[in-house]
Amino acid sequence: MRVTFPRLGTMHIFCKAIAETAGIPYLVPPKTSRKTLALGVKNSNECICLPFKVILGNFIEALQMGADTIVMVGSGPPCRLGLYDLVHKVILEDLGLQYRWLTIPPRLTWEALMKNHEETKPLRKELTLRNYLTFPYALYIGWRKMLATERLERLAMKVRARETTRGETQRNLAKALRMLDEAKGAKQISEAQREGERIIEGTGQDQGRLTLRVAIVGELYMVMDPEINRGVEQRLGELGVEVTRTSWFSTHIGRSLGLGGEQRRERLRFHQASFEYLGYDVGAECNVSVGETIIRAQEGYDGVVHLMPFACIPETTAAAILKQVSKDYHIPVLTLVLDEQDAEGRIQTLLEAFVDMLLWRKQKGLKGR
Ligand code: SF4
Repeated sequence: MRVTFPRLGTMHIFCKAIAETAGIPYLVPPKTSRKTLALGVKNSNECICLPFKVILGNFIEALQMGADTIVMVGSGPPCRLGLYDLVHKVILEDLGLQYRWLTIPPRLTWEALMKNHEETKPLRKELTLRNYLTFPYALYIGWRKMLATERLERLAMKVRARETTRGETQRNLAKALRMLDEAKGAKQISEAQREGERIIEGTGQDQGRLTLRVAIVGELYMVMDPEINRGVEQRLGELGVEVTRTSWFSTHIGRSLGLGGEQRRERLRFHQASFEYLGYDVGAECNVSVGETIIRAQEGYDGVVHLMPFACIPETTAAAILKQVSKDYHIPVLTLVLDEQDAEGRIQTLLEAFVDMLLWRKQKGLKGR
């Protein structure tokens, strides 16, 4: 058995930690690249949303490199993520690739548990007693690494807006994440986190720099994966923007498991705010995109960047509503529709123009008007 999973943001760090700690052989798919995207695009229907194509590309690359078991998260309607597995399986079979499939259920229902039981039947034969016994601890280690990773990323989002040498925060963050990735056991994770924070805080900063506050909202894959969004978070930071986002692995896992008090309350607040424009839960991140924009406007943020993949149903709905929210709440919103064609130059130009406009508003005292 050699397990693989989609490549999304820093997810490989904690997935790898779980597999390694439990002694399960694994293969981290290569970083999403032009080749990954080309493989996904070539083998998908052109109208399907971008994350489908990227994940398919990840799986093809991983299976070709020797993985044989795919672990994928599930989701419910109306978002298409819940149907990805059905179509991915057909495409992979048509390509002649051999694999076993395991869906992590989004909610612990009887139906999901039964499906999981069926899917794990062939896998259970290959697992040893040690795999079973260490799995709960492996989950704990994965969870700790995930939280530590998110802490480092959040810190970098603050520091980057004031860095004196462009790119230094990113280099320091990469170094800190590498250390965390290599840490074994709870003690080493705490040490790596502390050392990582020290390294990121050591970035040269200009505390007098005029910075902006911008929230990134939108489809979770677009928000969380810098390869797919072409480094929007980093680009904004390097333009002097302190970025906030509420899409984190801990948010989504916590939501599925009914955990994560503060983050859950915050999302609930976003949902409630969205009901001024949406009478029901549209699905995926749509309500959160709308509600968070309203709340950020009330909190005095300078602007919102809304990221959506081409052909995403929930975020297309959000994009239309956000135009009105922007007018009603006097908050500039930049919607970036991302697809496989996107060039870095287009994104950089749009972000620079947006940030220039926000700075001009701030200097003229036009914020909130
Ligand atoms: S939220 Fe949008 S992009 Fe993401 S899976 Fe659903 S439809 Fe596709």
